[in-house]
Amino acid sequence: MHSTQGAIPTHCPYCALQCGMNLRPADGTVAVEERAGFPVNRGALCGKGRTAPAVLSSRVRLTEPLVRTGPGGPLAPATWDEALDAVAAGLARTRRAHGPDAVGVFGGGGLTNEKAYALGKFARIALGTSQIDYNGRFCMSSSAAAHQRAFGLDRGLPFPLEDIPRTGCVILVGSNPAETMPPALRYLTELKANGGTLVVVDPRRTRTAELADLHLAPRPGTDLALALGLLHLVVAEGRTDAEFIAARTTGWEDTRAAAMAHWPELVERITGVPVPRLRRAVELFCAPEAAMVLTARGPEQQAKGTDTVGAWINLCLATGRAGRPLSGYGCLTGQGNGQGGREHGQKADQLPGYRRLTDPAAREHVARVWGVAPETLPGPGRSAYELLDALGTDVKALLLMGSNPVVSAPRAAHVEERVRSLDFLAVADVVLSETAALADVVLPVTQWAEETGTTTNLEGRVLLRRRALTPPPGVRGDLEVLHGLAARLGLEKGFPTDPEEVFAELRRASEGGPADYSGISYDRIAAEQGVFWPCPEGSPGTPRLFLDRFATEDGRARFAPVTHREAAETPDAAYPLLLTTGRVVAQYQSGAQTRRVPELNDAAPGPFVELHPRLAARLGVADGTPLAVTSRRGRAVAPARITDAIRADTVFMPFHWYGEGRANTLTNPALDPVSRMPEFKVCAVRVEPA
Ligand code: SF4
Repeated sequence: MHSTQGAIPTHCPYCALQCGMNLRPADGTVAVEERAGFPVNRGALCGKGRTAPAVLSSRVRLTEPLVRTGPGGPLAPATWDEALDAVAAGLARTRRAHGPDAVGVFGGGGLTNEKAYALGKFARIALGTSQIDYNGRFCMSSSAAAHQRAFGLDRGLPFPLEDIPRTGCVILVGSNPAETMPPALRYLTELKANGGTLVVVDPRRTRTAELADLHLAPRPGTDLALALGLLHLVVAEGRTDAEFIAARTTGWEDTRAAAMAHWPELVERITGVPVPRLRRAVELFCAPEAAMVLTARGPEQQAKGTDTVGAWINLCLATGRAGRPLSGYGCLTGQGNGQGGREHGQKADQLPGYRRLTDPAAREHVARVWGVAPETLPGPGRSAYELLDALGTDVKALLLMGSNPVVSAPRAAHVEERVRSLDFLAVADVVLSETAALADVVLPVTQWAEETGTTTNLEGRVLLRRRALTPPPGVRGDLEVLHGLAARLGLEKGFPTDPEEVFAELRRASEGGPADYSGISYDRIAAEQGVFWPCPEGSPGTPRLFLDRFATEDGRARFAPVTHREAAETPDAAYPLLLTTGRVVAQYQSGAQTRRVPELNDAAPGPFVELHPRLAARLGVADGTPLAVTSRRGRAVAPARITDAIRADTVFMPFHWYGEGRANTLTNPALDPVSRMPEFKVCAVRVEPA
């Protein structure tokens, strides 16, 4: 064990930046101190990180298991044995009556690598179900799919953040780090201080966009056309890198033809971005030796998210800005362990080490590590929304860890209805989230500062979170929960509770896979400020990918000949406006934790509807007027916030809240055909005074 004396270096529990911090135990909780030596954030933290200890000592955190006292009865305190017996019985009963695939498992992008690994293993060998997925599907899965398609490997950023200030130009698409990860903003300000340029693509003039040399504000859902228009200009102006295309890519001719069908005037009509601004973006991107495109949820959370990201990757490849120093495409993953959470087996189609569940060699390798026959491993299951949509019909019991889909899933009122229709629901969480409140059994689990485990940040840097505090007596770790449940389901072995032991097994399971962790140990992570995967035994780790070859069979990157198509919903007479959703700096995801922190709640107490002054005048509403926003799926009410920083055809709502202002009541679960990502970022709505 590592020392728990004095200040303990660890990482923030929230977003994918995984800022370093020191924790000093004091008076039954911990104080956050600066950890200046950690390179990612160099001591800086946002308000969420600074106040993270508040949830540890919150009076609303769960400190004893709760079991529902009969159908429709209240949740009542129970012992751990009673609660685990009830969960095991509920899952086993369903499996007996309806088969293993009637039991679902839903994980989270905030779970450590060890937990994500153990949860995937639990689903597949303790329950024998194929029905497992996680909320990371809602986060970056379109980028992951586009990465795989183009480069043969998905690591959010194929280079460290420290490369960003040293490149010549960054096009930042649908990303707002000023709100989502403020310490990361310095990489952009340093880029500009070094003479580089920043282009921000966002329908809103966000605080990040205000830093930009050029802000392009396309109509929501048209980023794919925008990228095609830029590629058209690159070709027309003779700015392609023919040598790079010939030596390191395949599929250019089809992609070129697709781009040439999207001439700038057409793209202006589709996106609303004037042609001179398109030309200026191309100029800025192509002028320096090196440049990057970074995307986040904007282009990714669309029913064509994979192709939209693919279009931005095409732009990088056509200009020779990938697989070269200080150049490339990267995704700014959102959730704390959004990267590691998708590598170790809680995703519907994957096994640990980022192996494909349908690959016979991968099944054989992982089955050997797990001590089971490969043919006993189930095949791929449903994606997150499809799984939630099947609750109460095909999937009758659910074990949920680290997620609050009643707030965070698209078409949330429908999802809530599906959750309520389950025969049995068990939730492991730290507070009684809106989803946990619907459970038959609630298991109170440890928090970040009370446990040890690894996460993998948005750079692919594997990090160590350390235990700094003894958890309250009534609380247990998720690994203990899985151990206790597996034992009750007849598996006495295979689910250790020591995270380092789980990590040792994860290393073996990942060995030889795309995300190879076999050369990474807790001691190495502690000594090296994190280790970048892939890291086979004996490797120093790999901060920069693709410099010699891409991870495809022939070593070449693959162009994808994508074309523009409209969003699944476009405005019409009944729903004449577009809704886009996002985050605010003081809240995090479904707000399950941050809404319980007084300082954060004071800063961001509730939802709002951002709209342009012209639209406000047309509706006859003032700042603060309660607005009803209605889509084909439901209605949400929140006060107006009038600003000229948004397009006049678009309204914006943050999605952190439940109740009448629940933004995800409105969002569209239309799925991307490849990534199965729902279209959170655009749907048609009507807005009127409430
Ligand atoms: Fe935590 Fe992200 Fe804020 Fe850093 S930026 S302190 S990781 S929430």
